[in-house]
Amino acid sequence: MTPLISIVAPLYNERESFGPLIERLNALMDKLPYPVEVVLVDDGSRDNTADLIRLTALSDPRYHGVLLARNFGHQTAVTAGMAAARGTEAVLIIDGDLQDPPELLEEFYAHIQNGYDVVYAVRRKRKEGVLKRFAYSTFYRILKNISYVDIPLDSGDFSMVSRRVVDIMNKMPEESRFLRGMRSWIGFKQIGVEYERSERVAGVPKYSFKMLRRLAYNGIFNFSEFPVKFIIRTGAFAIGIALIYLIQTLVKKYVFGTVPQGFTALLFVIILFSGIQLMALGIIGEYVLRVFFQVKGRPLFVVREEIKDGAAGAPESM
Ligand code: UDP
Ligand code: MG
Repeated sequence: MTPLISIVAPLYNERESFGPLIERLNALMDKLPYPVEVVLVDDGSRDNTADLIRLTALSDPRYHGVLLARNFGHQTAVTAGMAAARGTEAVLIIDGDLQDPPELLEEFYAHIQNGYDVVYAVRRKRKEGVLKRFAYSTFYRILKNISYVDIPLDSGDFSMVSRRVVDIMNKMPEESRFLRGMRSWIGFKQIGVEYERSERVAGVPKYSFKMLRRLAYNGIFNFSEFPVKFIIRTGAFAIGIALIYLIQTLVKKYVFGTVPQGFTALLFVIILFSGIQLMALGIIGEYVLRVFFQVKGRPLFVVREEIKDGAAGAPESM
């Protein structure tokens, strides 16, 4: 039966949370009056997550397994899940560690039925450590200030999007993906729903600091012009300071007859501006890299195996 709604969950080494996840999803699906499919994406796990997905999808046709050829990262895994999702009305995106309660599906879907295209979850309280919370909240506030799209505060990937939004996102060929930004960029009617983010049901977070930093970079470089504007402003500021200094020196020499001094100052200024120049080059390099990766036009992910309708098959090429 063609599902009305697809639930997409990316899994990377989630052996421990797999059991509880399936239990919760089964209970939810048993209760819903319409057909739902669950797309479980294995993001190149090194534990037996892929086997667990394969077994589940073979024994229960409501489960749809997408096994990626390697670890492509969370955002890309969700992208692969969205590409495979067949839900005709909407797709619900959740984390595989049950931090996002799948039971909110009904509440989210009610909004979709009322004409909203994007229903995003807003975290009322975070259960992460102080440092991580601080980093997240600062990042979101900075991004909101500098971004040219209106990305709502404290909203992550946990959301439900309508079929037409899924189709549009599937057509967006962006290489370095920042889904929450892409979702906002699309527009239509969007609504936030508050929820309390639970703790991970089992296992440890799979996002390393490096991955989070990359995500933050993707947000800043792909959804704002800030880095370029920052170089221009810093350059203009430096020129201003130099001009003031020049005038001051000329006045000192011709009006007061004093000879300008200050080798220490000279050294300091040289080091400071070499630093600024290197940073500016780095920022430009970051854009060049992004262009470089984009123009290669590689597929965003590679599927190793797809299990749907209770049977394994070769993946349709994307
Ligand atoms: N994840 C993934 N690929 C990765 C890293 C994480 O598919 O390379 C999945 C992970 O299994 C989980 C979700 O993305 O289902 C969120 O990851 P995590 O819980 O580590 O992030 P956090 O909740 O700490 O932000
Ligand atoms: Mg988590």
